[in-house]
Amino acid sequence: MSMNAFRAAAPSILLVTVPLSLLATCACTAPGATAPPVQPNVVLLEGRRAAAALVPLRAEWDVEHYGLELTLLPAQRAMEGVARIRAINRASGNRNLVLDLAVLQVSGVSDAAGRELGWRHGGDKLTIDLGRDFFPGEVAEVVVAYGGVPQRGLWYAPDDPATHCFTQGECEDARRWFPCVDHPSERATSELIVHMPASWTSMAGGMLLERKLEGSRATEHWAHHMPHPAYLETLVAGELVSVFDRGPVPVTYVGTPAMARYLKPSLGSTGQALEFMADLTSRPYPYSKYATCAVDGFPFGGMENASATTITSASLCDVRGRMDGGAESLVVHEAAHQWFGNLLTCADWSEIWLNEGFATYCTLLWYEETRGQGEFLRHIREMQVAAIGADERTHRPIVHGSCIDPLDLFFTGHVYQGGASRLHHLRFVLGDDAFFAGLRAYVGGHENSGVTSLDLQRSLEAASGLDLTQHFEQWLHSPGLPKFSLSWSRRSEEGPTRVTIEQVHSLRPGTPTVFVTPAEIEWRTSTGIQRKRVLLDQRKQTLELDTHGELLWVRFDPLHWIPGERIEAHDLATQIMLAYEAPDAMGRMEALASLGEQWSGLPEGARRQALTAAARRLAADPVEAVRVEAARFLGQTQSAGARDLLSALAVKDDSVPLRRAVLQALVNFTPSTSLFELAQAAFVSAPSWDCAGAAVMLGIKADPVRGLRWVEELIKAPGVMQVDDPAGRLAVHVVAALETLGSKQALPIVRSWALAPLAPAGPRSAAIALLGDWGREAPGLVEDLVGLLGHSDPRLSRAAVVALRRIANQQARSALREFYPHSAAPVERRAIEALFPVR
Ligand SMILES: [Zn+2]
Repeated sequence: MSMNAFRAAAPSILLVTVPLSLLATCACTAPGATAPPVQPNVVLLEGRRAAAALVPLRAEWDVEHYGLELTLLPAQRAMEGVARIRAINRASGNRNLVLDLAVLQVSGVSDAAGRELGWRHGGDKLTIDLGRDFFPGEVAEVVVAYGGVPQRGLWYAPDDPATHCFTQGECEDARRWFPCVDHPSERATSELIVHMPASWTSMAGGMLLERKLEGSRATEHWAHHMPHPAYLETLVAGELVSVFDRGPVPVTYVGTPAMARYLKPSLGSTGQALEFMADLTSRPYPYSKYATCAVDGFPFGGMENASATTITSASLCDVRGRMDGGAESLVVHEAAHQWFGNLLTCADWSEIWLNEGFATYCTLLWYEETRGQGEFLRHIREMQVAAIGADERTHRPIVHGSCIDPLDLFFTGHVYQGGASRLHHLRFVLGDDAFFAGLRAYVGGHENSGVTSLDLQRSLEAASGLDLTQHFEQWLHSPGLPKFSLSWSRRSEEGPTRVTIEQVHSLRPGTPTVFVTPAEIEWRTSTGIQRKRVLLDQRKQTLELDTHGELLWVRFDPLHWIPGERIEAHDLATQIMLAYEAPDAMGRMEALASLGEQWSGLPEGARRQALTAAARRLAADPVEAVRVEAARFLGQTQSAGARDLLSALAVKDDSVPLRRAVLQALVNFTPSTSLFELAQAAFVSAPSWDCAGAAVMLGIKADPVRGLRWVEELIKAPGVMQVDDPAGRLAVHVVAALETLGSKQALPIVRSWALAPLAPAGPRSAAIALLGDWGREAPGLVEDLVGLLGHSDPRLSRAAVVALRRIANQQARSALREFYPHSAAPVERRAIEALFPVR
């Protein structure tokens, strides 16, 4: 599953992701909120639960097959269903079959012959009395009639009447649309017969067997012969169009007619991504077809349902959005899940990193394959930073099974970038040959089954001959990450160099005192560059490097293979030299970033040299990401020379990420008419939405008065803000630009945008979240926000929770408290819980 609608090219995450990502951090830090009054007593939230260990799978029954027949009732936003379930008894003397089923009502249960069976439904469990004891190996078949208005599980799109619907099972919401054993290690085949309005078509897992029309109703029949967990069962239905594309199997993109022209530009890498994954794993794509369905009101970025992924329409883009990266990483992430997640599924949610860490790392491997080493290193650098941040926020092992809701385990990035960083590290420890051989053996040896970290460990051990017990214990089963400090000294010009590496991370409970890992040390002398691999197994250790001639630098883990922080303390001359001529893009990016941070304290001579180094990198570095870092550095210098260099590129460079970085860097310079005019020129010639958005931000910063007037004109001009760019990427940037003006000037615009029912949900939710900072004093604003709680578009509801949580006055607090029992979204519930701490 992908949590974010879309991400801008790093480092900034576009505001459209704010509701979810902000809530995830809000729960801990409450940025911007006034401190709630101290309550002397425990404040109770109705229906609040405490964190607990995940419940293991009941092994009494093994479901073989789900036969589902659903009638969709969009006018009532309801459904009726009949589920025929065939299961094998695994216990002795077993008379009851217990299934998961939530929210919906059961109207009757019978056996295959139509005889009524006794049943009890409560606490999300449907217990069926089979009428006699079943012996081990005996097959039971039950038929459950049920229905109602689903809450999560099956979602109708926010429009009214709904033009389409979709399901979303992960983690435990399959039970909200059909009775099942809702556990990731229980796999079954399935059939799905769907009755729907005649104008509707459907997409589901497996293959379509037939479509029938009878009067005003259509019926479609799907069969999915590959066993899969209930959470990967899927149905998308509605007034939909399909676009066909090439791939190793038939590839289809599905969306509403309004989305049709964005499907191919957004999803066109799908076939190539499936082929890439088949090569990587030596396992052909597992299913008979692959579809990607874009839907409105999807609560996450995407969901890798088996053979039919669902994504949010907010990730779709036109050609300009594709220049910003578009949906490419989402496409590859969900394609990777067809192997890591679907063909092999985490045995329980504590092992979710085996799904998400792999999907995240495979996306990075895709960039390595398609964009080369420099771009790959940029992604690795960002991944390591995200992994460190996630570890600090969660302080739990990657494999972790205590939570209120398993979905909580997804929120911080810990199992995504944190998991991917552990895989990257394993690749370093084993070497490419053994790592990729082990990965292929892991896939080949565990098809169609639940997997644990131990399965991965055993596969990698067999491929490498290494004992990885301690490695997995430290890096996967313990919380925390190391922090390395490197220092070195040399007695004479010709002698050896003593290098000291110390692990200086604080010793929090459970964190290893010493992380054992190999590490690479690189040094450069006048005779050339050398690298040495050393084993780190002590808190502080010293080694000698055989150095001859002038020693120019010593670097620790230069390519960032190891998760964790590092302190290298290079002197200024070394940093400038690295910015000029580090042999890898990582070294040049790191040196430029570090010099930028120190800029205000640099002596004049060092400033001049650093500026020259950055200017050279900006003009001629072969790696785009290094040029972007050079533009950021130059922005921090605020020097006249830097301004000229950046201005020259703002309207003409071929690289879209560089154009965007240049415009963002120019925001740091003294406001002026010429900068404002440059922003307008850059807007007109902008090749992408993010570039256009960066130009708007620059315009507002360069001249707030004219900038505001410009934005007001843009909002009114048809074809600019009313572009049917489904994500509203430009509009998201405009909201961010308005934020810098402050509430006095921009509150009316932001407020009208937040409440405009036709505005795209991305910028609308950004505007709603912003009202949380600005709207404390605005009359009637809390009422407006309360009206959005539980909105049929989950992003708007989440944004309203964010805003009310920031306002946090008495009225906002009572509204959130009242809403809490009605919200089924873990991310909303955690955010509200943080406002009412248990004492
Ligand atoms: Zn995922």
